[in-house]
Amino acid sequence: MVTPRKQPASLAGEPDRLDLPRRLPASSAGEPDRLGFDPDALRARYRAERDRRIRPDGNSQYRRITGESGTYGDDPYAEPESTREPLFDRVEVAVVGGGFGGLLTGARLRQAGVRDIRMIEQAADFGGTWYWNRYPGVQCDIESYVYMPLLEEVGHVPTWRYAPGEEIRQHARAIGRHFDLYRDACFQTRATELRWDEGESEWIVSTDRGDLMRARHVVVSSGTLSLPKLPGIPGIETFKGHTFHTSRWDYAYTGGDASGNLDKLADKRVAVIGTGATAIQIVPHLGRDARQLYVFQRTPSSVDVRDNRPTDPAWAESLTPGWSRRRRDNFLTLVSGGQAEQDLVRDGWTASARLLQNLVPTDSYAHLPAGERDHLGELADFQKMNELRARVDDLVEDPATAEALKPWYRYMCKRPGFSDTYLQTFNRPNVTLVDTADHGGVQRITGNALVVGGTEYEVDCIVFATGFEVGVSGILSGELPVYGRDGVTFPERWKEGPRTLHGLYSHGFPNLFQLGSLQNAASVNYVHILDEQATHVAAVLAEARERGARHVEPSADAEAAWVDTIHEKVPSLHKFQAECTPGYYNNEGMPSGRSESFGDGPIAFHELLRRWRAEGGMDEVVVG
Ligand code: NDP
Repeated sequence: MVTPRKQPASLAGEPDRLDLPRRLPASSAGEPDRLGFDPDALRARYRAERDRRIRPDGNSQYRRITGESGTYGDDPYAEPESTREPLFDRVEVAVVGGGFGGLLTGARLRQAGVRDIRMIEQAADFGGTWYWNRYPGVQCDIESYVYMPLLEEVGHVPTWRYAPGEEIRQHARAIGRHFDLYRDACFQTRATELRWDEGESEWIVSTDRGDLMRARHVVVSSGTLSLPKLPGIPGIETFKGHTFHTSRWDYAYTGGDASGNLDKLADKRVAVIGTGATAIQIVPHLGRDARQLYVFQRTPSSVDVRDNRPTDPAWAESLTPGWSRRRRDNFLTLVSGGQAEQDLVRDGWTASARLLQNLVPTDSYAHLPAGERDHLGELADFQKMNELRARVDDLVEDPATAEALKPWYRYMCKRPGFSDTYLQTFNRPNVTLVDTADHGGVQRITGNALVVGGTEYEVDCIVFATGFEVGVSGILSGELPVYGRDGVTFPERWKEGPRTLHGLYSHGFPNLFQLGSLQNAASVNYVHILDEQATHVAAVLAEARERGARHVEPSADAEAAWVDTIHEKVPSLHKFQAECTPGYYNNEGMPSGRSESFGDGPIAFHELLRRWRAEGGMDEVVVG
């Protein structure tokens, strides 16, 4: 457990000034001597580490969780399913998805005066990610003061700097109550089709409950990492012991709760497959409570200092109106590579902001030629990763285990991890790291064991910390089929690639909005991004209401202009990603062609939306 500490000045309302960037020499001659490390040797090592992990089957190494995968996808938290009569009624706005994107849309619509809203959610309550992910140790990995939305509106100050998942889930529920979004909500209901009815200017929303609801407008915010995936390890279905995915934690089997104390594992041998952001949070609990823990690693995460601590009540008292927006904007500016006088958050994310400057569009270092900027960024990256590798040596006693836990790739190749307990867990006598890198992962599963390099590891239980399918939810992938004007679908209309205005709506699909990361700007603080999108959608819908308009739809010209903007400013991440170890950030080592994100980054994108609203943009889309 983290020991409570005194709040540092930056959290107590006296922010420190931002550290000056460390200047690194730009020329490469004599670099190893000056730098204390050899960039060429590191580049070669990174390449070798990537090459030994590349699998020709890429994404198809994974299995989608379907009905045939048994109970993996079941909801362990829902009461036995309640039955209700199918709905054939009408609402003004239907919101598909009850995670933070949907909740923010509902909240911003309420603030804009829309009363008639129906939330549609597959789970039995609000929360999205935080509904499903209740594994032991689950907590926010972005500072909760900037991650948790609508804090001031709801009247909550997080109790910890990185709040536990349960507090975040309860906050999602509080948003639902505060903005009266439980009224008329349909839980345990999955939207299965959207069909535009031109005559009535309405969408018909079909669901797996037999509903055929009608809605003037539909907003889809159904998540980007919401469908758990399993590795396609040969023999996976033959295992006779217990198994589950981290997003469906089985406390009936493990005992305990999200704060740990998994007492039923005291006599169990447990395997965890995966060492991503989720595993970093669960491994310390499993290591402490299981009789034997095997951690099957293919690629180690980078693990930086977490430094969690409870919120200082005096600091919470001192906050003045607008504090959360100011802090959130400051964080977004810094992690997007922008400049700010102060760093209010001062954590691992903002400290690494200079590394992000090469990955996220930025206006700083603008005076340097691009090649020099890239070179400096790479050197800073080497330096950061050297520090993180040295941290492994400092914390892990066994040299061979420490060596295997070192990440050999550039910082943002994988989602960075933060923990003050993960690496130390490998010092426990009952915890074994099994490095699978040379075998493409766990090679085989038998009735009672996992096999790697000819060794069988007998276990009672396998926990799959193997992540989620990327971008399969929502309307992009066809998971939720959409029939727009004249029955045309997105795949039919988007044969040449996606076409949207601001990533939010498309010609031929009136009154339909989607939140997400297509053709707009993303950030590690994704909930902030969703809030800006929800605010924009609510403003557009409020205007349509004000004007008594039945249709909101971008013209084909407005859409084409935005697609051109996206393609003109496209960030060139391909080279960077191609050199990375495989993972979901780079399509398992096969980075796809063109990025579809707004090249000037989120700060510029949000400013662009505000200007568009202020300067008559509505006339383009509120059409009658
Ligand atoms: P990830 O996709 O990040 O990690 C999956 C892990 O499974 C990887 O370590 C992967 O190895 C490993 N793996 C997959 N197949 C095999 C195999 N056959 N054998 C051995 N290992 C295998 O999933 P996570 O659930 O950890 O994280 C997903 C995302 O969720 C994060 O990136 C983050 O965005 C978010 N998250 C956020 C948190 C928060 O606090 N806000 C906390 C947790 C997660 P390899 O890397 O080699 O492919």
